[in-house]
Amino acid sequence: MADIFSKQKRSKIMSKISGKETKPEILVRSYLFREGFRFRKNDKRYPGKPDIFLPKYKTAVFVHGCFWHRHNCKKGKLPKKNREFWEKKINDNVLRDKKNIKALEELGLKVIVLWQCELRNKDLKKQNLLRLVEMIKSNLPS
Ligand SMILES: [Zn+2]
Repeated sequence: MADIFSKQKRSKIMSKISGKETKPEILVRSYLFREGFRFRKNDKRYPGKPDIFLPKYKTAVFVHGCFWHRHNCKKGKLPKKNREFWEKKINDNVLRDKKNIKALEELGLKVIVLWQCELRNKDLKKQNLLRLVEMIKSNLPS
Protein backbone atom coordinates (compact mmCIF):
# COMPACT_ATOMS: atom_id res chain seq x y z
CA MET A 1 0.00 0.00 0.00
CA ALA A 2 1.30 3.42 -0.86
CA ASP A 3 2.25 5.57 2.07
CA ILE A 4 0.31 8.80 2.25
CA PHE A 5 3.33 10.48 3.80
CA SER A 6 6.69 11.18 2.20
CA LYS A 7 9.60 9.12 3.46
CA GLN A 8 10.91 12.03 5.45
CA LYS A 9 7.61 12.88 7.03
CA ARG A 10 6.99 9.22 7.83
CA SER A 11 10.28 8.80 9.60
CA LYS A 12 9.59 11.95 11.53
CA ILE A 13 6.27 10.56 12.66
CA MET A 14 7.75 7.19 13.52
CA SER A 15 10.53 8.69 15.56
CA LYS A 16 7.94 10.60 17.53
CA ILE A 17 6.07 7.40 18.25
CA SER A 18 9.06 5.25 19.15
CA GLY A 19 10.61 8.07 21.13
CA LYS A 20 13.98 7.18 19.72
CA GLU A 21 14.99 10.72 19.06
CA THR A 22 13.17 12.81 21.60
CA LYS A 23 13.54 16.55 21.73
CA PRO A 24 15.42 16.78 25.05
CA GLU A 25 17.99 14.34 23.70
CA ILE A 26 18.58 16.47 20.64
CA LEU A 27 18.87 19.54 22.80
CA VAL A 28 21.49 17.96 25.05
CA ARG A 29 23.45 16.53 22.13
CA SER A 30 23.63 19.80 20.24
CA TYR A 31 24.64 21.65 23.38
CA LEU A 32 27.46 19.23 24.12
CA PHE A 33 28.58 19.31 20.50
CA ARG A 34 28.75 23.10 20.53
CA GLU A 35 30.78 22.88 23.73
CA GLY A 36 33.30 20.80 21.84
CA PHE A 37 32.44 17.36 23.17
CA ARG A 38 32.55 14.42 20.83
CA PHE A 39 30.33 11.46 21.48
CA ARG A 40 28.43 8.54 20.05
CA LYS A 41 24.67 8.24 19.87
CA ASN A 42 22.88 5.14 21.16
CA ASP A 43 26.02 3.03 21.08
CA LYS A 44 24.78 -0.56 20.88
CA ARG A 45 27.99 -1.93 22.33
CA TYR A 46 27.08 -0.63 25.77
CA PRO A 47 24.28 -1.73 28.11
CA GLY A 48 21.14 0.30 27.59
CA LYS A 49 22.48 1.98 24.43
CA PRO A 50 23.28 5.26 26.18
CA ASP A 51 21.75 8.30 24.50
CA ILE A 52 25.15 9.92 24.61
CA PHE A 53 28.43 8.12 25.09
CA LEU A 54 31.65 10.10 25.54
CA PRO A 55 34.63 7.77 25.08
CA LYS A 56 37.22 10.32 26.18
CA TYR A 57 35.44 10.85 29.47
CA LYS A 58 34.30 7.25 29.91
CA THR A 59 30.85 8.65 30.55
CA ALA A 60 27.37 7.60 29.49
CA VAL A 61 24.51 10.09 29.57
CA PHE A 62 20.83 9.20 29.51
CA VAL A 63 18.15 11.77 28.89
CA HIS A 64 15.08 10.23 30.47
CA GLY A 65 11.44 11.06 29.98
CA CYS A 66 9.92 11.53 33.44
CA PHE A 67 6.87 9.40 32.75
CA TRP A 68 8.54 6.45 31.05
CA HIS A 69 11.36 6.18 33.54
CA ARG A 70 9.43 7.22 36.64
CA HIS A 71 11.02 10.37 37.85
CA ASN A 72 10.07 11.53 41.29
CA CYS A 73 8.26 14.58 39.93
CA LYS A 74 4.82 15.65 38.78
CA LYS A 75 5.28 14.14 35.34
CA GLY A 76 6.42 10.82 36.74
CA LYS A 77 3.05 9.98 38.27
CA LEU A 78 1.03 7.05 36.95
CA PRO A 79 -2.34 7.76 35.35
CA LYS A 80 -5.39 6.56 37.25
CA LYS A 81 -6.78 4.87 34.19
CA ASN A 82 -5.34 1.41 33.43
CA ARG A 83 -3.15 1.83 36.42
CA GLU A 84 -2.10 -1.83 36.61
CA PHE A 85 -0.99 -1.86 33.02
CA TRP A 86 1.10 1.26 33.41
CA GLU A 87 2.50 0.19 36.73
CA LYS A 88 3.87 -3.00 35.22
CA LYS A 89 5.14 -1.33 32.10
CA ILE A 90 6.93 1.46 33.91
CA ASN A 91 8.26 -0.95 36.56
CA ASP A 92 9.87 -2.95 33.77
CA ASN A 93 11.52 0.19 32.45
CA VAL A 94 12.78 1.19 35.87
CA LEU A 95 14.22 -2.27 36.49
CA ARG A 96 15.89 -2.25 33.09
CA ASP A 97 17.35 1.20 33.76
CA LYS A 98 18.78 0.02 37.08
CA LYS A 99 20.29 -3.05 35.49
CA ASN A 100 21.85 -1.04 32.67
CA ILE A 101 23.31 1.58 34.97
CA LYS A 102 24.82 -1.10 37.17
CA ALA A 103 26.30 -2.88 34.15
CA LEU A 104 27.78 0.36 32.84
CA GLU A 105 29.30 1.18 36.22
CA GLU A 106 30.77 -2.27 36.38
CA LEU A 107 32.54 -1.49 33.12
CA GLY A 108 34.14 1.45 34.91
CA LEU A 109 31.95 4.05 33.27
CA LYS A 110 30.35 7.07 34.83
CA VAL A 111 26.61 7.30 34.31
CA ILE A 112 24.70 10.57 34.31
CA VAL A 113 20.90 10.73 34.07
CA LEU A 114 19.28 13.93 32.98
CA TRP A 115 15.53 14.23 33.36
CA GLN A 116 13.18 15.81 30.90
CA CYS A 117 11.76 18.12 33.56
CA GLU A 118 15.24 19.40 34.33
CA LEU A 119 15.22 20.97 30.88
CA ARG A 120 11.69 22.29 30.85
CA ASN A 121 12.48 25.99 30.74
CA LYS A 122 15.29 28.34 29.79
CA ASP A 123 16.71 28.80 33.27
CA LEU A 124 16.65 25.12 34.14
CA LYS A 125 18.20 24.25 30.80
CA LYS A 126 21.07 26.65 31.34
CA GLN A 127 21.64 25.53 34.90
CA ASN A 128 21.46 21.81 34.27
CA LEU A 129 23.43 21.80 31.04
CA LEU A 130 26.25 23.65 32.80
CA ARG A 131 26.06 21.12 35.61
CA LEU A 132 26.18 18.30 33.09
CA VAL A 133 29.33 19.69 31.48
CA GLU A 134 31.00 19.92 34.89
CA MET A 135 30.03 16.38 35.75
CA ILE A 136 31.42 15.09 32.47
CA LYS A 137 34.64 17.05 32.79
CA SER A 138 35.16 15.84 36.34
CA ASN A 139 35.54 12.34 34.99
CA LEU A 140 38.48 13.12 32.75
CA PRO A 141 41.31 10.88 33.93
CA SER A 142 44.30 12.96 34.93
ZN1 LIG B 1 10.86 14.83 36.15
